[in-house]
Amino acid sequence: MPTNALEGKRILSVDDSATIRKYLRNILAPFGVELEEAETGEAALSVLESAKSFDMILLDLQLPDLQGMEVLRRLREHDEDTAVVVLTGSGDIRSASAAVKEGADGYIEKHHLPKMDHLDDLFYALEQSMEHRAGIVAQKQLEALKADFYSMVTHDLRNPTGAIMLSLDTLLKGALGPLTSKQEQFLTIALAASEKLLALISDYLDYAQIDSGYLRLDKSGTELRGVVEETVKMAQLQAEAKKQTLTVELPADPLPAHADGKRLQQVVENLLSNAIKYTPEGGSIVIRLDRDNKSGVIVVSDTGRGIPQDQLPALFAKYHRVPGQATKGIVGTGLGLTIVKEIVEAHGGSVQAESEGVKGKGATFTVRIPLEAE
Ligand code: ADP
Repeated sequence: MPTNALEGKRILSVDDSATIRKYLRNILAPFGVELEEAETGEAALSVLESAKSFDMILLDLQLPDLQGMEVLRRLREHDEDTAVVVLTGSGDIRSASAAVKEGADGYIEKHHLPKMDHLDDLFYALEQSMEHRAGIVAQKQLEALKADFYSMVTHDLRNPTGAIMLSLDTLLKGALGPLTSKQEQFLTIALAASEKLLALISDYLDYAQIDSGYLRLDKSGTELRGVVEETVKMAQLQAEAKKQTLTVELPADPLPAHADGKRLQQVVENLLSNAIKYTPEGGSIVIRLDRDNKSGVIVVSDTGRGIPQDQLPALFAKYHRVPGQATKGIVGTGLGLTIVKEIVEAHGGSVQAESEGVKGKGATFTVRIPLEAE
Protein backbone atom coordinates (compact mmCIF):
# COMPACT_ATOMS: atom_id res chain seq x y z
CA MET A 1 0.00 0.00 0.00
CA PRO A 2 1.48 3.38 -0.95
CA THR A 3 2.01 6.00 1.72
CA ASN A 4 -0.53 8.73 1.52
CA ALA A 5 1.69 11.79 1.23
CA LEU A 6 -0.43 12.90 -1.72
CA GLU A 7 -3.65 13.29 0.25
CA GLY A 8 -5.15 16.73 -0.22
CA LYS A 9 -2.58 17.68 -2.88
CA ARG A 10 -3.78 19.53 -5.93
CA ILE A 11 -2.58 17.97 -9.15
CA LEU A 12 -3.16 19.08 -12.74
CA SER A 13 -3.07 16.24 -15.19
CA VAL A 14 -2.27 17.39 -18.74
CA ASP A 15 -2.70 14.76 -21.42
CA ASP A 16 -4.57 14.55 -24.71
CA SER A 17 -5.29 10.87 -24.13
CA ALA A 18 -8.58 10.43 -22.30
CA THR A 19 -7.45 6.91 -21.37
CA ILE A 20 -4.37 8.16 -19.53
CA ARG A 21 -6.30 10.95 -17.78
CA LYS A 22 -8.95 8.48 -16.66
CA TYR A 23 -6.32 6.03 -15.54
CA LEU A 24 -4.58 8.66 -13.40
CA ARG A 25 -7.87 9.85 -11.98
CA ASN A 26 -8.87 6.32 -11.00
CA ILE A 27 -5.60 5.81 -9.23
CA LEU A 28 -5.14 9.17 -7.57
CA ALA A 29 -8.64 10.28 -6.59
CA PRO A 30 -9.17 7.45 -4.05
CA PHE A 31 -6.05 8.70 -2.23
CA GLY A 32 -7.57 12.10 -1.63
CA VAL A 33 -5.80 13.88 -4.51
CA GLU A 34 -7.70 16.87 -5.87
CA LEU A 35 -7.33 16.39 -9.57
CA GLU A 36 -7.95 18.77 -12.46
CA GLU A 37 -7.45 17.92 -16.07
CA ALA A 38 -6.43 19.63 -19.29
CA GLU A 39 -6.41 18.12 -22.77
CA THR A 40 -4.13 20.58 -24.53
CA GLY A 41 -1.15 22.77 -23.80
CA GLU A 42 -3.16 25.99 -24.20
CA ALA A 43 -5.86 24.66 -21.89
CA ALA A 44 -3.20 23.77 -19.32
CA LEU A 45 -1.67 27.25 -19.51
CA SER A 46 -5.02 28.94 -19.08
CA VAL A 47 -5.81 26.81 -16.01
CA LEU A 48 -2.37 27.67 -14.66
CA GLU A 49 -2.81 31.36 -15.33
CA SER A 50 -6.06 31.40 -13.39
CA ALA A 51 -5.63 32.09 -9.71
CA LYS A 52 -5.54 28.39 -8.82
CA SER A 53 -2.33 26.94 -7.58
CA PHE A 54 -1.23 23.33 -7.86
CA ASP A 55 1.21 21.21 -5.93
CA MET A 56 2.08 19.22 -9.00
CA ILE A 57 1.58 18.98 -12.73
CA LEU A 58 1.65 15.67 -14.57
CA LEU A 59 2.59 16.79 -18.04
CA ASP A 60 2.47 14.80 -21.22
CA LEU A 61 5.34 15.90 -23.42
CA GLN A 62 3.44 15.22 -26.63
CA LEU A 63 0.40 17.42 -26.78
CA PRO A 64 -1.60 18.16 -29.93
CA ASP A 65 -1.07 21.94 -29.90
CA LEU A 66 1.91 23.09 -27.84
CA GLN A 67 4.65 20.64 -26.98
CA GLY A 68 4.74 19.81 -23.28
CA MET A 69 8.22 21.29 -23.19
CA GLU A 70 6.86 24.68 -24.25
CA VAL A 71 4.18 24.49 -21.53
CA LEU A 72 6.93 23.73 -19.01
CA ARG A 73 9.09 26.61 -20.24
CA ARG A 74 6.23 29.10 -20.01
CA LEU A 75 5.24 27.84 -16.58
CA ARG A 76 8.77 28.18 -15.23
CA GLU A 77 8.97 31.80 -16.41
CA HIS A 78 6.83 32.75 -13.44
CA ASP A 79 6.37 29.65 -11.30
CA GLU A 80 9.26 28.05 -9.44
CA ASP A 81 7.14 26.40 -6.77
CA THR A 82 5.04 23.78 -8.53
CA ALA A 83 6.51 20.31 -8.98
CA VAL A 84 6.36 19.03 -12.56
CA VAL A 85 6.53 15.37 -13.58
CA VAL A 86 6.70 14.78 -17.31
CA LEU A 87 5.19 11.75 -19.00
CA THR A 88 7.45 10.58 -21.82
CA GLY A 89 7.30 8.01 -24.56
CA SER A 90 9.06 4.72 -23.94
CA GLY A 91 12.82 5.00 -23.63
CA ASP A 92 12.73 8.72 -24.43
CA ILE A 93 15.54 9.61 -22.04
CA ARG A 94 16.60 12.53 -24.21
CA SER A 95 13.25 14.35 -23.80
CA ALA A 96 13.20 13.47 -20.12
CA SER A 97 16.60 14.99 -19.46
CA ALA A 98 15.79 18.03 -21.63
CA ALA A 99 12.65 18.51 -19.50
CA VAL A 100 14.66 18.23 -16.29
CA LYS A 101 16.97 20.94 -17.64
CA GLU A 102 13.92 23.14 -18.25
CA GLY A 103 12.81 22.70 -14.65
CA ALA A 104 10.93 19.38 -14.45
CA ASP A 105 11.37 17.48 -11.20
CA GLY A 106 10.95 13.96 -12.49
CA TYR A 107 9.68 11.84 -15.34
CA ILE A 108 7.66 8.69 -15.85
CA GLU A 109 7.65 6.64 -19.02
CA LYS A 110 4.00 6.39 -20.04
CA HIS A 111 4.09 2.73 -20.89
CA HIS A 112 5.21 1.99 -17.34
CA LEU A 113 2.06 3.51 -15.87
CA PRO A 114 -0.24 0.47 -15.99
CA LYS A 115 2.59 -1.78 -14.86
CA MET A 116 3.54 0.13 -11.73
CA ASP A 117 3.14 -2.66 -9.22
CA HIS A 118 0.88 -1.96 -6.26
CA LEU A 119 1.15 1.69 -7.24
CA ASP A 120 4.15 1.99 -4.96
CA ASP A 121 6.50 2.91 -7.79
CA LEU A 122 4.17 5.60 -9.10
CA PHE A 123 3.60 7.16 -5.69
CA TYR A 124 7.29 6.99 -4.91
CA ALA A 125 8.12 8.80 -8.17
CA LEU A 126 5.52 11.51 -7.48
CA GLU A 127 6.63 12.01 -3.87
CA GLN A 128 10.28 12.20 -4.87
CA SER A 129 9.45 14.88 -7.43
CA MET A 130 7.56 16.91 -4.84
CA GLU A 131 10.48 16.64 -2.44
CA HIS A 132 12.86 17.71 -5.18
CA ARG A 133 10.81 20.84 -5.81
CA ALA A 134 10.43 21.55 -2.10
CA GLY A 135 14.24 21.39 -1.82
CA ILE A 136 14.65 23.97 -4.58
CA VAL A 137 12.07 26.28 -3.02
CA ALA A 138 13.75 25.97 0.40
CA GLN A 139 17.15 26.69 -1.15
CA LYS A 140 15.80 29.85 -2.77
CA GLN A 141 14.27 31.02 0.50
CA LEU A 142 17.54 30.35 2.24
CA GLU A 143 19.45 32.40 -0.33
CA ALA A 144 17.04 35.30 0.07
CA LEU A 145 17.44 35.07 3.84
CA LYS A 146 21.21 34.99 3.46
CA ALA A 147 21.14 38.09 1.29
CA ASP A 148 19.09 39.93 3.92
CA PHE A 149 21.36 38.66 6.64
CA TYR A 150 24.50 39.88 4.86
CA SER A 151 23.15 43.33 4.30
CA MET A 152 21.97 43.51 7.91
CA VAL A 153 25.32 42.30 9.28
CA THR A 154 27.25 44.61 6.96
CA HIS A 155 25.30 47.53 8.25
CA ASP A 156 25.34 46.45 11.89
CA LEU A 157 29.07 45.84 12.04
CA ARG A 158 30.27 48.68 9.87
CA ASN A 159 28.33 51.42 11.57
CA PRO A 160 29.56 50.98 15.17
CA THR A 161 33.12 50.41 13.94
CA GLY A 162 32.89 53.65 11.99
CA ALA A 163 31.60 55.41 15.11
CA ILE A 164 34.50 54.09 17.19
CA MET A 165 36.98 55.37 14.60
CA LEU A 166 35.38 58.77 14.46
CA SER A 167 35.41 59.11 18.25
CA LEU A 168 39.03 58.03 18.52
CA ASP A 169 39.97 60.42 15.75
CA THR A 170 38.19 63.30 17.50
CA LEU A 171 40.03 62.55 20.76
CA LEU A 172 43.35 62.27 18.93
CA LYS A 173 42.92 65.64 17.29
CA GLY A 174 42.68 67.13 20.76
CA ALA A 175 39.15 68.38 20.19
CA LEU A 176 38.21 67.46 23.76
CA GLY A 177 41.35 68.78 25.41
CA PRO A 178 45.08 68.13 25.29
CA LEU A 179 46.38 64.57 25.59
CA THR A 180 49.39 63.22 27.41
CA SER A 181 51.82 61.41 25.15
CA LYS A 182 50.82 58.06 26.70
CA GLN A 183 47.14 58.75 26.02
CA GLU A 184 47.98 59.72 22.46
CA GLN A 185 50.02 56.56 22.01
CA PHE A 186 47.16 54.29 23.16
CA LEU A 187 44.52 56.11 21.17
CA THR A 188 46.70 55.79 18.06
CA ILE A 189 46.93 52.04 18.60
CA ALA A 190 43.15 51.81 19.11
CA LEU A 191 42.51 53.83 15.95
CA ALA A 192 44.86 51.70 13.84
CA ALA A 193 43.23 48.52 15.20
CA SER A 194 39.73 49.73 14.44
CA GLU A 195 40.79 50.71 10.92
CA LYS A 196 42.05 47.16 10.42
CA LEU A 197 38.85 45.78 11.91
CA LEU A 198 36.76 47.79 9.48
CA ALA A 199 38.86 46.62 6.55
CA LEU A 200 38.51 42.98 7.62
CA ILE A 201 34.76 43.25 8.18
CA SER A 202 34.37 44.85 4.77
CA ASP A 203 36.41 42.19 3.00
CA TYR A 204 34.67 39.24 4.64
CA LEU A 205 31.20 40.59 4.12
CA ASP A 206 31.80 41.73 0.56
CA TYR A 207 33.24 38.38 -0.26
CA ALA A 208 30.37 36.54 1.45
CA GLN A 209 27.95 38.53 -0.70
CA ILE A 210 29.87 37.82 -3.88
CA ASP A 211 30.28 34.15 -3.02
CA SER A 212 26.57 33.68 -2.48
CA GLY A 213 25.82 35.31 -5.82
CA TYR A 214 24.49 38.51 -4.33
CA LEU A 215 26.87 41.07 -5.72
CA ARG A 216 24.38 43.73 -6.65
CA LEU A 217 25.58 46.37 -9.08
CA ASP A 218 23.80 49.68 -9.02
CA LYS A 219 24.84 50.95 -12.45
CA SER A 220 24.35 54.49 -13.65
CA GLY A 221 26.26 57.11 -15.64
CA THR A 222 29.65 57.20 -13.90
CA GLU A 223 32.69 59.29 -14.72
CA LEU A 224 35.89 57.34 -14.13
CA ARG A 225 38.05 60.39 -13.33
CA GLY A 226 35.71 61.13 -10.41
CA VAL A 227 35.96 57.53 -9.17
CA VAL A 228 39.76 57.72 -9.14
CA GLU A 229 39.94 61.23 -7.61
CA GLU A 230 37.56 60.37 -4.77
CA THR A 231 39.45 57.23 -3.85
CA VAL A 232 42.87 58.84 -4.08
CA LYS A 233 41.81 61.48 -1.54
CA MET A 234 41.32 58.78 1.10
CA ALA A 235 44.41 56.82 0.13
CA GLN A 236 46.61 59.95 0.36
CA LEU A 237 46.29 59.84 4.16
CA GLN A 238 47.40 56.20 4.29
CA ALA A 239 50.34 56.97 1.98
CA GLU A 240 51.37 60.03 3.99
CA ALA A 241 51.38 57.92 7.14
CA LYS A 242 54.01 55.71 5.44
CA LYS A 243 55.89 58.71 4.01
CA GLN A 244 55.14 57.49 0.49
CA THR A 245 54.37 59.66 -2.51
CA LEU A 246 51.09 58.92 -4.22
CA THR A 247 50.82 60.48 -7.67
CA VAL A 248 47.68 60.58 -9.76
CA GLU A 249 47.59 61.10 -13.53
CA LEU A 250 44.20 61.80 -15.09
CA PRO A 251 43.20 62.43 -18.72
CA ALA A 252 41.90 65.86 -19.73
CA ASP A 253 38.63 64.46 -21.12
CA PRO A 254 35.92 62.72 -19.12
CA LEU A 255 35.65 58.92 -19.32
CA PRO A 256 31.94 58.03 -18.94
CA ALA A 257 30.97 54.45 -18.14
CA HIS A 258 27.69 52.77 -17.29
CA ALA A 259 28.93 51.46 -13.97
CA ASP A 260 28.48 51.16 -10.23
CA GLY A 261 30.65 54.04 -9.02
CA LYS A 262 30.82 52.85 -5.40
CA ARG A 263 31.93 49.37 -6.42
CA LEU A 264 34.56 50.81 -8.77
CA GLN A 265 35.82 53.00 -5.94
CA GLN A 266 36.18 49.81 -3.95
CA VAL A 267 38.30 48.33 -6.75
CA VAL A 268 40.63 51.34 -6.81
CA GLU A 269 40.68 51.46 -3.01
CA ASN A 270 41.75 47.79 -2.78
CA LEU A 271 44.51 48.23 -5.36
CA LEU A 272 45.81 51.41 -3.75
CA SER A 273 45.70 50.03 -0.24
CA ASN A 274 47.64 46.93 -1.41
CA ALA A 275 50.19 49.14 -3.16
CA ILE A 276 50.62 51.12 0.08
CA LYS A 277 50.66 48.00 2.28
CA TYR A 278 53.23 46.10 0.24
CA THR A 279 55.54 49.05 -0.40
CA PRO A 280 57.98 50.10 2.31
CA GLU A 281 58.20 53.57 3.85
CA GLY A 282 59.38 56.24 1.48
CA GLY A 283 58.31 54.31 -1.65
CA SER A 284 56.17 55.70 -4.43
CA ILE A 285 52.82 54.76 -5.89
CA VAL A 286 51.37 55.99 -9.16
CA ILE A 287 47.79 55.68 -10.33
CA ARG A 288 47.09 56.53 -13.94
CA LEU A 289 43.78 56.64 -15.79
CA ASP A 290 43.62 56.60 -19.58
CA ARG A 291 41.39 55.78 -22.48
CA ASP A 292 42.30 52.85 -24.70
CA ASN A 293 39.84 52.66 -27.55
CA LYS A 294 36.50 51.72 -25.91
CA SER A 295 37.87 51.08 -22.43
CA GLY A 296 38.90 53.12 -19.44
CA VAL A 297 42.24 51.80 -18.20
CA ILE A 298 43.33 52.24 -14.60
CA VAL A 299 46.95 51.35 -13.84
CA VAL A 300 48.24 51.20 -10.26
CA SER A 301 51.97 50.68 -9.84
CA ASP A 302 54.27 50.76 -6.85
CA THR A 303 57.93 50.41 -5.92
CA GLY A 304 57.35 47.75 -3.29
CA ARG A 305 58.42 44.18 -2.73
CA GLY A 306 56.81 42.92 -5.94
CA ILE A 307 55.22 39.52 -6.48
CA PRO A 308 57.16 36.38 -7.41
CA GLN A 309 56.26 35.41 -10.98
CA ASP A 310 55.08 31.93 -9.99
CA GLN A 311 52.53 33.55 -7.65
CA LEU A 312 50.92 35.70 -10.33
CA PRO A 313 48.48 33.06 -11.70
CA ALA A 314 46.99 32.37 -8.24
CA LEU A 315 46.88 35.99 -7.12
CA PHE A 316 43.15 36.55 -7.66
CA ALA A 317 42.07 33.26 -6.09
CA LYS A 318 40.14 33.52 -2.86
CA TYR A 319 42.15 33.64 0.37
CA HIS A 320 45.40 33.56 -1.59
CA ARG A 321 48.27 35.45 0.00
CA VAL A 322 51.84 35.21 -1.23
CA PRO A 323 53.39 32.77 1.23
CA GLY A 324 56.47 33.26 3.38
CA GLN A 325 58.19 36.45 4.40
CA ALA A 326 56.29 38.53 1.90
CA THR A 327 53.12 38.97 3.89
CA LYS A 328 54.49 38.60 7.40
CA GLY A 329 53.13 41.21 9.72
CA ILE A 330 50.83 42.76 7.12
CA VAL A 331 47.18 42.33 7.95
CA GLY A 332 45.02 40.93 5.16
CA THR A 333 42.42 38.34 4.30
CA GLY A 334 43.60 37.35 0.84
CA LEU A 335 40.16 38.38 -0.41
CA GLY A 336 40.83 41.92 -1.66
CA LEU A 337 41.95 40.92 -5.14
CA THR A 338 39.18 38.31 -5.47
CA ILE A 339 36.68 41.09 -4.77
CA VAL A 340 38.45 43.34 -7.30
CA LYS A 341 38.23 40.67 -9.98
CA GLU A 342 34.57 39.88 -9.31
CA ILE A 343 33.53 43.53 -9.45
CA VAL A 344 35.55 44.29 -12.56
CA GLU A 345 34.28 41.21 -14.40
CA ALA A 346 30.70 41.97 -13.39
CA HIS A 347 31.22 45.22 -15.34
CA GLY A 348 32.43 43.27 -18.38
CA GLY A 349 36.01 44.38 -17.70
CA SER A 350 39.28 42.69 -16.78
CA VAL A 351 42.14 42.96 -14.29
CA GLN A 352 45.70 41.86 -14.69
CA ALA A 353 48.80 41.81 -12.47
CA GLU A 354 52.41 42.14 -13.55
CA SER A 355 55.61 42.04 -11.55
CA GLU A 356 59.20 40.99 -12.08
CA GLY A 357 59.22 39.75 -8.50
CA VAL A 358 62.15 42.00 -7.67
CA LYS A 359 62.19 43.98 -4.41
CA GLY A 360 61.91 47.68 -5.14
CA LYS A 361 60.58 47.19 -8.67
CA GLY A 362 57.12 46.62 -7.30
CA ALA A 363 53.96 45.43 -9.00
CA THR A 364 51.56 46.85 -11.56
CA PHE A 365 47.81 46.18 -11.67
CA THR A 366 45.82 47.07 -14.79
CA VAL A 367 42.02 47.31 -14.75
CA ARG A 368 39.96 47.77 -17.91
CA ILE A 369 36.36 48.96 -17.74
CA PRO A 370 34.20 49.26 -20.88
CA LEU A 371 33.19 52.87 -21.59
CA GLU A 372 29.77 54.08 -22.65
CA ALA A 373 29.37 54.15 -26.44
CA GLU A 374 29.70 57.73 -27.71
P1 ADP B 1 45.38 40.77 1.25
O1 ADP B 1 44.21 40.99 2.14
O2 ADP B 1 46.28 39.68 1.72
O3 ADP B 1 46.11 42.01 0.90
P2 ADP B 1 44.65 40.58 -1.55
O4 ADP B 1 43.71 39.63 -2.20
O5 ADP B 1 44.39 42.02 -1.68
O6 ADP B 1 44.72 40.14 -0.05
O7 ADP B 1 46.08 40.28 -2.13
C1 ADP B 1 46.52 38.93 -2.23
C2 ADP B 1 48.01 38.85 -2.08
O8 ADP B 1 48.64 39.45 -3.22
C3 ADP B 1 48.54 39.63 -0.89
O9 ADP B 1 48.51 38.87 0.29
C4 ADP B 1 49.97 39.93 -1.33
O10 ADP B 1 50.77 38.80 -1.06
C5 ADP B 1 49.85 40.07 -2.86
N1 ADP B 1 49.78 41.47 -3.30
C6 ADP B 1 48.68 42.17 -3.63
N2 ADP B 1 49.00 43.41 -4.04
C7 ADP B 1 50.33 43.51 -3.97
C8 ADP B 1 51.28 44.56 -4.28
N3 ADP B 1 50.90 45.75 -4.74
N4 ADP B 1 52.58 44.27 -4.08
C9 ADP B 1 53.00 43.06 -3.63
N5 ADP B 1 52.15 42.04 -3.32
C10 ADP B 1 50.84 42.26 -3.51
